Amino acid sequence: MGFGSGSAMKVRLLVPNAYSQIMIMNRFVRIALCLAPLSLAGQQLPADLIVTSARIYTVDESHPVVEAFAVRGGRVAFVGDARGALTLRGPQTRVLDLGGRTVIPGMTDAHGHVSELGQTLAIVDLTGASSYDEIVARVAAKAKTVAPGVWIEGHGWDQNRWADTHFPSHEKLSAAVPNNPVLLERIDGHANLANKKAMDAAGVTAATKDPAGGRIEHLADGSPSGVFVDNAQPITQHVVPVASHEELKRQLQNAIAETHRWGLTGVHDAGEPQNILDIYEELGRAGEINSRIYAMIGDDSTAIMKAFARGPQSAMYGGTLWIRSIKLYADGAMGSRGAALLEPYSDDPANSGLLKSTPAHLLDVATRALKNGFQVCIHAIGDRGNRVALDAYESALAASPTADHRFRIEHAQNLHYADIPRFAKLGVIPSMQASHQTSDMYWVGTRLGVSRLPGAYAWRSLLNTGIVIPDGSDFPVERVNPLISFHAAVSRQDANNWPPGGWYPEQRMTRDEALKAMTIWPAFAAFQEHDLGSLTPGKYADFVVLDQDIMRAPVETILSTHVISTWVGGKMVYEAK
Ligand SMILES: [Zn+2]
Repeated sequence: MGFGSGSAMKVRLLVPNAYSQIMIMNRFVRIALCLAPLSLAGQQLPADLIVTSARIYTVDESHPVVEAFAVRGGRVAFVGDARGALTLRGPQTRVLDLGGRTVIPGMTDAHGHVSELGQTLAIVDLTGASSYDEIVARVAAKAKTVAPGVWIEGHGWDQNRWADTHFPSHEKLSAAVPNNPVLLERIDGHANLANKKAMDAAGVTAATKDPAGGRIEHLADGSPSGVFVDNAQPITQHVVPVASHEELKRQLQNAIAETHRWGLTGVHDAGEPQNILDIYEELGRAGEINSRIYAMIGDDSTAIMKAFARGPQSAMYGGTLWIRSIKLYADGAMGSRGAALLEPYSDDPANSGLLKSTPAHLLDVATRALKNGFQVCIHAIGDRGNRVALDAYESALAASPTADHRFRIEHAQNLHYADIPRFAKLGVIPSMQASHQTSDMYWVGTRLGVSRLPGAYAWRSLLNTGIVIPDGSDFPVERVNPLISFHAAVSRQDANNWPPGGWYPEQRMTRDEALKAMTIWPAFAAFQEHDLGSLTPGKYADFVVLDQDIMRAPVETILSTHVISTWVGGKMVYEAK
């Protein structure tokens, strides 16, 4: 479908400038707000909080670096010098003298999976354990924190790291944790270790037969050893109860608390089912979301219909929850060769990947989303996946011209060169994860071949077309720490500064861009730029105090930066011990 009609033409003219027009408008608002506290200082209510003696990167072009700001009612009341900020000091005002520390606006992960992070945090991490005793100790420590009878799950044991590389058996574990069923997954997911209580719950005895394609390990006396291999794993897995509503709620809260540790004050939650969206609403109503959660609706027709009937919801519950976007999937992932490519995989010539949704489905949801005022965010990794997503957007916009749709492609990882300018033309935002580049660079060349690599993780090529790139991590696929992506964005190198000079370094971002990619660009990608993304009078006072100046420190030291404290709406939500 081309751009033949007049109405489609209008879209093309309006959309590319949406970001710059909004930014210009913002600047007028900012200037007005910025002057107010100075000229009316005598009549202003005092600030709740004044931050001084800091190097503050505001991500606001009208005053990029300042030494102080003031907060009132959860929002920035003043930005500038210490003298100006202190005119807002009252008897109750807390003054935070940071002694030269660095402050940046609260960071937002533009693509993370909050409920999955919560699940990951709920299970015992067994990775790196160098003995079976260490495994048992980690599980026993967890058992002290839960009630008897509650299932304990773990992941990551690897007997090849231990002095005795035979499979472990359950006795030590069963003795140390007798009152809770325990199920521990091996590092590769191909075997489980269960304790006695878990085997009893599953009804496993010496008589239990091996299923086809699976094996139950046995002790010398013929009793089950606790290890269940491959197709035998479901025998114990299927008795683990699904997490209760209260458990899921606690997991979401734990996940948000984990993001605070790393300086995140917001997350674009990349697709959640209805029950998780309901829990967000419940937490929001109770005033228990201390973050900015931009929750995408997973691809579920009932949930989507329900959301359309209610309409887009922004800044609910005091600016803590947004539900106005839908997550779809065009294709799979590169690592498993599921990403859809225009030409076959270089290391698998019979395989071009697969489409997870039909183009008709993408078009249908995108068209209905436009009519109902919703944003669409399509996962697309391969060049064919991206082309299919762009085609769907182009057709939807031709059918239903919408000036400010802010449609997104999640990952936009490998692009055909001809498709790179289409993002700007259509006003589609590539929501990318810089850390994927440094995680994938060791093997992605063999998947794609050298000729396709210039279109992979092509940040500079995309930025040069005049668009913005919100940055994310895809946690828990990658680690939560947003500075890993910040470092990757500016260096295209891993934590060991490999490769020298960076991987396709011409695609690097500047530090200013990399900071915007974690602050104002995610805000724009979520229709939040009037409230979030910079330290600007009138916006929410979300900020992070760092122990190092990430804008000036040598690149190879960026990853040693620590978060000192994280603040949401002027309230501290995390402080380093
Ligand atoms: Zn994801």
